[in-house]
Amino acid sequence: MDLNRNDTPNNNQNNNGKKPEGNRPKGSIGTALLITLAIVLLINWIYGSISKSQYTETSFSDFLEAKEAGQLTEVEMQYDRIIYMTKEEAAKPASAQKACYTGLPSGGDMLALEQELHAAGVTVKNEIVEDNSVIMMILSYALMIGGLFLVMNLLTKRMGGDGMMGGMGKSKAKVYMEKQTGVTFKDVAGQDEAKESLQEIIDFLHNPQKYTAIGAKLPKGALLVGSPGTGKTLLAKAVAGEANVPFFSISGSDFVEMFVGMGASRVRDLFQQAAKVAPCIIFIDEIDAVGRSRDNRYGNNSEQEQTLNQLLSEIDGFEPSKGIVCLAATNRPEILDKALLRPGRFDRRIIVDRPNLQGRLDTLKVHTRKIKLSDDVDLRKIAQATAGAVGADLANLVNEAALRAVRMGRQAVNQEDLLVSFETVIAGTEKKNTVLTDMEKRLVAYHEVGHALIAALEKHAQPVSKITIVPHTSGALGYTMQMPEEEKFLSTAEELRTELRTLVGGRAAEQVVFGVQTTGAANDIQRATSLARNMVTQYGMSEKFGLMSTASVENQYLDGQAYMDCSQETAAEVDKEVMQILQQAYTDAKRILTEHRGLLDEISEFLLVKETITGDELMAYVNADKNALPAPGVEAPKDEEAE
Ligand code: ADP
Ligand code: ZN
Repeated sequence: MDLNRNDTPNNNQNNNGKKPEGNRPKGSIGTALLITLAIVLLINWIYGSISKSQYTETSFSDFLEAKEAGQLTEVEMQYDRIIYMTKEEAAKPASAQKACYTGLPSGGDMLALEQELHAAGVTVKNEIVEDNSVIMMILSYALMIGGLFLVMNLLTKRMGGDGMMGGMGKSKAKVYMEKQTGVTFKDVAGQDEAKESLQEIIDFLHNPQKYTAIGAKLPKGALLVGSPGTGKTLLAKAVAGEANVPFFSISGSDFVEMFVGMGASRVRDLFQQAAKVAPCIIFIDEIDAVGRSRDNRYGNNSEQEQTLNQLLSEIDGFEPSKGIVCLAATNRPEILDKALLRPGRFDRRIIVDRPNLQGRLDTLKVHTRKIKLSDDVDLRKIAQATAGAVGADLANLVNEAALRAVRMGRQAVNQEDLLVSFETVIAGTEKKNTVLTDMEKRLVAYHEVGHALIAALEKHAQPVSKITIVPHTSGALGYTMQMPEEEKFLSTAEELRTELRTLVGGRAAEQVVFGVQTTGAANDIQRATSLARNMVTQYGMSEKFGLMSTASVENQYLDGQAYMDCSQETAAEVDKEVMQILQQAYTDAKRILTEHRGLLDEISEFLLVKETITGDELMAYVNADKNALPAPGVEAPKDEEAE
């Protein structure tokens, strides 16, 4: 039971903007070994069967018999066998002749046998060195060693090098070079400030002489800072596309490998490759993986340090007039080593923000360019509903909608597809098989209507756009979606208090109607608590602490989590104040719902039947109620709240 929406869907903290990386399948080494072995065995077998089919196998006594009978014409002594031809066979035409062979008796006197045969006038040959099987043996060993070599080579490549014989650390493997990215600023929606800052770099790449003629120091690097999925990679590619220069990209985590020294040599290699085709752009994604501060606060290692040093010296090393520009992306600028940010290095910082309403609308437009949309599609509505979403979410949303349209057998994407996929992206797919008992369903319905009704009755609340009690895979059994009428950057204290009341409204409804408390309110409580805490510690909205800040935000671009920086006693006081604010909100919410108990029942019953109701349907109930009872009893509490 989740009063959804305000929370940004992309606060995926463990996803540091990392992209899934295609790995070689693990079995490849084993496969190579097996193949080598199979080849050796096959060759041995083929050789064996050929040599066997040439001769007829006989026993030694057969051989002796033939000798006694004077049947032998020719004998060949090999190191492990005797091959002989009988008169009978020799009489046959050459193609049908077949020699016989027999093993050697152990301890037999070969010399005596040879002399005996000579005496009988049989031709005797001795062939030991030329034996084919020895050659085969050598051949199979060679093959085996070759195979092993291959395997070793594969292995070292996997671990990041370029094989044992390729010279340690030549790393063409993970640097991606695109001659032309094919991406331009037109493909990047919004981000106007970022584009403006990057414009100069493009101009420089187009025409470096213009800058050198005046004696201006050219920019070497810029740092793109923003949450994952906001389009940093896309922007970097667009810069390359606009300037029409090659684009090198590598991820910071690719530098840091198993072998010490590998990272540094990769950096060297990257810059060497780039220098060959300059002017060009080098893009280093997740630079925090290498550029982490070298003091030990965040835990690092000598490999990372070496890599960073190499990176710094490469950046310092290249002549600006060459036309190499380094762009790097991070969502944790605060942990970067200060040396990286010094003038002449990544001294420009370009903020890539989460898109605002217009930005989201533009992003949706960019991504729906190649998609067939039906007439009922209203992208503005979608943009309004997705506050907090980043470009990658929106791209994902559009794609999900297109997939849904195909699944439904339609020719074009309609508004419903977009709305449903919005829910998929934000709340997880509708879960059809969670079966709630009737009582649970009632609880969920009242809980959600509790949220929605308070929001509907309050002056400062964002309008409700949808209430549903259809469970979602994300675990929410139902949710209430609120949609702001316009983009908002500031919230007043009163608005925040309204939000608190709305958040605890679910629990209040459970309490007022059923006199129970359920686990379904956990998420609401968590969010209400952190909001109340922020009001006290950061926004200066409590009576007790006034303007005193008691917490500071450390990581603005990832989770924005705040850390208390006050004495223990103050922290304890803060907790009391937070509790006080929550208590007040809860009391108010219960009062509002008790006063509008009739409305609460009516809407909840309606929701139980329909499972999903729109904001308009909700407002129809609320307004009808107002019209029916124009008495001050309805309006008054609402205005009271407003104060
Ligand atoms: P980041 O590097 O910041 O993590 P990406 O550049 O990899 O994000 O963005 C991922 C995808 O999201 C892009 O390929 C693009 O489809 C989409 N996207 C992100 N921002 C935008 C934007 N401003 N305009 C259009 N598409 C965007
Ligand atoms: Zn709830």
